[in-house]
Amino acid sequence: MQPVTNAASPLLELQSVWKSYTAAPAVQDVSLTLRSGETLALLGPSGCGKSTLLRLIAGLERPDAGRVCMAGQDVTLSPPERRNLSMVFQDYALFPHLNVAENVAYGPRMRGVSRQAAGVTALEALARVGLEELHARRIHELSGGQQQRVALARALAPGPALLLLDEPLSNLDEQLRTSLRRDLGRLFAETRAGVLLVTHDQREALSLAGRVALMRAGKVVQAGETGAVFSRPVSAWAAAFLGERNLFPQQGGVLMVPERAVVLGQGEAWPVLQSVPSEDGTRVRLAHPLGPLSVTLSPREAALLSGPSLQARVNMAECLTLPDDRDV
Ligand code: ADP
Repeated sequence: MQPVTNAASPLLELQSVWKSYTAAPAVQDVSLTLRSGETLALLGPSGCGKSTLLRLIAGLERPDAGRVCMAGQDVTLSPPERRNLSMVFQDYALFPHLNVAENVAYGPRMRGVSRQAAGVTALEALARVGLEELHARRIHELSGGQQQRVALARALAPGPALLLLDEPLSNLDEQLRTSLRRDLGRLFAETRAGVLLVTHDQREALSLAGRVALMRAGKVVQAGETGAVFSRPVSAWAAAFLGERNLFPQQGGVLMVPERAVVLGQGEAWPVLQSVPSEDGTRVRLAHPLGPLSVTLSPREAALLSGPSLQARVNMAECLTLPDDRDV
């Protein structure tokens, strides 16, 4: 019987998916959904099961239990080529014996598109990543950043409904990563495909994804709209992983003092323990009675920092008390 595609169904739906390689499950009871045009980041530390989950979605692994559905169809047992998706691998996995345009034309060719039409599609995809003039180059003649773009163009060329990216920026140096992150953001906004991005880098998730699923030891511990996940982590472990510095153990939990809770220029003056330049300004640590309180000053605020102390007030209404699960 032909399964029925339901237009109202999410593009991707995982229903209680499990996968073990050895005794400890690599993925445990994961359920999530993704809609077309949406970008979801699977975020978590190394070894938490992100790549395994991506491979289950791609059809490169089979779950031990649970279902993978695309557009309302159960594809749990379907091979990768039957899933209307493209994947960008961490090491790009480009074909070294083909040139740039041939690499990008490969997907459409595999789908039965003529050589000429696939060539046109390849050039269009290369234009989207700003690489059309390099179409005749060999892969080994490209820089890491250029190879990354070719891998992206190759994934986009067949016009997949779902784009899967495994740590797409991890093999690049910091400067290149920042500029490519911007380009990825633009591409994700332009595409109608659903995008699933695996990353261990919270900045990448924050800047690229509309929704985040935070993973730990094979499980999704928190999922939701990116801003909500970052501003309201469910636990001390989640807060620490998401980059929160101000976590103060208290009786019955951990007090999280987010940056927005610290009001500068009011309250008592606290000694400055440390002051270091950071990406977004100057990071200072104050000797606050709660504990060493980390605050980021804008360049204008930093200019006002003259003496060895800084006036700051903690607005308790903006603080959260979280369960401490950091050692479990
Ligand atoms: P992440 O992508 O978050 O780094 P992985 O999905 O690669 O995590 O790994 C999750 C867990 O599964 C880890 O404990 C890892 O060692 C294990 N694992 C992954 N792939 C295999 C495999 N092919 N064989 C055995 N164990 C694996």
